[in-house]
Parts: sequence; C-alpha cells; structure tokens
Amino acid sequence: MSAPTAAALRDSEGPAVWLGALARRFPDLLAELTPSTSRPLRERPGANRVGGTAAPVRLYVSDAIRDITDGVVELEEAVRDRLGLRRVPAASVPVRLRRVAGLLDRVADHPDLAAHIADEARRMTYRCTRALGDPEQLLRVAGRCPACDSVSLRAFPERAVVMCVNPVCRHVLEGAEAVAG
Ligand SMILES: [Zn+2]
Repeated sequence: MSAPTAAALRDSEGPAVWLGALARRFPDLLAELTPSTSRPLRERPGANRVGGTAAPVRLYVSDAIRDITDGVVELEEAVRDRLGLRRVPAASVPVRLRRVAGLLDRVADHPDLAAHIADEARRMTYRCTRALGDPEQLLRVAGRCPACDSVSLRAFPERAVVMCVNPVCRHVLEGAEAVAG
C-alpha cells in the first residue's frame, strides 16, 4: 500500500490509465449495438436472459452507452468548471475523453480532481466491460512497469487495480484505486 509507485500512479497516471481504457473499450460497446455487424451478440455471464433473445442484451448495452455518455459529459464539465475553463462544444465520447486527457497536466495541481477523474473513468470502464460480457476484462495500459520496466501493465477495472502481468514480476499498482471514499 505504501509503495512509492502507488502515490505516483494515483496522482498522475491513474486518470490517464482509466481514461485511456475507457476510450479504447467504448467503441466496442457501440459496435455491439450496431445491427449491421454480423458479429454475434455475446452472452453475459450471470445476467438474466429472457428466452435467449438478443433484446435484453441490446437493452443492457444501450443502457450502458447512455450512462457512460452522460457520465463522460458530466465529467468533462466538472473538470472544466474546476479548472475555470470555458464550455466546449458537444462531442462524441471518445473526443470528450481525449479532451479531458489533454487537461491532465493542469489537473495534476488538483490531486482530489485527479482522483475523481480516475475513479469516474474506472467506474465507467467497469460498466463498459461488464456490458461487453467480461467482468474481468484485462485492459492494456500504456507505459512501463515501474518494477521490471516491461510494457506489461494491465488494468482490472472491477478490482480497481493495475498490475504487471510479467509472470516473474506481478507488481501491483494499487494507486489506481484512487480515493473513492
Ligand atoms: Zn513488472
């Protein structure tokens, strides 16, 4: 818990990790809803299924898309308000996520805001991966493991943890848990 890397991740990399993870996974959610794709809808483990039709899955996915879209809009507005920035035109979720990520340098002066971004982005990433059917989806994280220097960091949204998957390392960056409460 008191590893120096934990604080470093929470303050600077934490928000970027989860914003990046969400930006990469959200398009998969949209694709899941697009009828023109021939990709079969995946079943969600542990979910209630009704007659084996795809409708409940689509409803679940569309609910997740709406929640995440609302959440990202609120997140961007909260960040810009806090930084004293003007409002920006409406945009798609990936564009908004990129815009928020582009503000992280300025956010670094506000640790509580950074923690809020990390927590919200992680929560929405988890919502996203659950809707996509894999509660323990591993998400590739940019950057190198501070312990072994390999590019093997993965995020586990459900457990709010970023871990090195190098089998001889297994370093855990617990700072990504942010400071939810
Ligand atoms: Zn490592």
